[in-house]
Amino acid sequence: MSKVSFVAGGGANSIGRSFYRLKLGDYHLGVDWGGGYGSIYDEPQYDGPLDALLISHGHHDHATMVAKLHHRYPELKIFATAPTRDLSILNWRQTIKKALGLKQNPPFDGYDVERTLSMIRLFRVNEELKLNDEISVFPLPAGHILGAVSFLVSYQEEYYFFTNDICFHSRYLIDGAPSFRFERCRLLIRESTYINKDVGDREATKQQFIAAAAKVIERRGRLLVPGLSIDRIQDVFGDLYESGLWPIYIDGARKPTEIYLHYLDGRASSLGKALRFRNERERMQFLKSRQPSVIIASSGMIYPNTLSAFWAENLLYQKNDAIFIVNYQEPDGQGFLLKTAPDGKFIKWNDGIVQVRCERKDFNKSAHMDGPEGEALEERLNPDTIIYTHGENDEIDRYIASHQDKKQRIKALEGKEVEL
Ligand SMILES: [Zn+2]
Ligand SMILES: [Zn+2]
Repeated sequence: MSKVSFVAGGGANSIGRSFYRLKLGDYHLGVDWGGGYGSIYDEPQYDGPLDALLISHGHHDHATMVAKLHHRYPELKIFATAPTRDLSILNWRQTIKKALGLKQNPPFDGYDVERTLSMIRLFRVNEELKLNDEISVFPLPAGHILGAVSFLVSYQEEYYFFTNDICFHSRYLIDGAPSFRFERCRLLIRESTYINKDVGDREATKQQFIAAAAKVIERRGRLLVPGLSIDRIQDVFGDLYESGLWPIYIDGARKPTEIYLHYLDGRASSLGKALRFRNERERMQFLKSRQPSVIIASSGMIYPNTLSAFWAENLLYQKNDAIFIVNYQEPDGQGFLLKTAPDGKFIKWNDGIVQVRCERKDFNKSAHMDGPEGEALEERLNPDTIIYTHGENDEIDRYIASHQDKKQRIKALEGKEVEL
């Protein structure tokens, strides 16, 4: 067999700064170059050669730092689907804006964005991308967000499979990934976000979410759903709209919603019906009116002084209102505090103090495969070797310890080369 090796430059036994490099003979194939969650300058650590970079999807932890890569690799070929390119541009512009807001130097500027765009070549889902005479990549739908793909790489009659962030469950706007099946493959590089977690019946969770939302409106309360602006907001809107619940406002996430509308066409057309606030005055008027409604607002982590934090500040202390959490909350964040504070407690919120009295509920609307789905995938692809990435260190250890069989299972470690 030919010489193949793998290394992660980030996004290994932690989440953030994703970068993976597969060396196939003399060819250095990279996947993603993402931002981190520590500072706006976080990026993968890798300074070896790179011949091509594939972007798996437009999330921050996979695509943000691509915009500065041309300094290091001026001739790099970068490949992405069209929606991934468009969502990446949003992330790049947002990063610049965020840096300026923090009075910091942005990690890259408008020129870098333009230059990177000129290096991107688009590929299509399910269409073979020939990198040279020996290496082909098949981008397969990953069902994670709009434009997200897995990569099936073929090299000298062997297969190498990158799941990237993947979801097998179909949602309102995005179909789940198809269940691939091989006789055997040489290597599976898989994400491990929920490696040991059983998310349970996602359809049942969706129905519970809709029923709980309807109850808030019935009692003439107002419901806030903070959501990540790419995918979660659009998905939550779709589920509630389809159930007949109304009125529903979307506050923020305007550009990602436009991209969803553009690419999904008819399927997403309901998104165009979402009610909007045009300015601060309309938000204040709405609050005064006490109109029962759903507000889906951007900043899923409810960071201080974002739209969702503004709405939360106005609903948190009112017993009749509700806030439903639908994505992960990092333990240091305001969202985590909101989720875990006992009823009646005063908490620090934005720049003030507020008493927690509204109804709070947590729904796992994850767009990642869970433990049992990951096991089933390993079974179907039948890889000789599995490398675990994009997960928590201890969870990956626990999984490998409880899955001892003939397969070689390796936890990815940043900078540690794995020879196949
Ligand atoms: Zn993602
Ligand atoms: Zn990710």
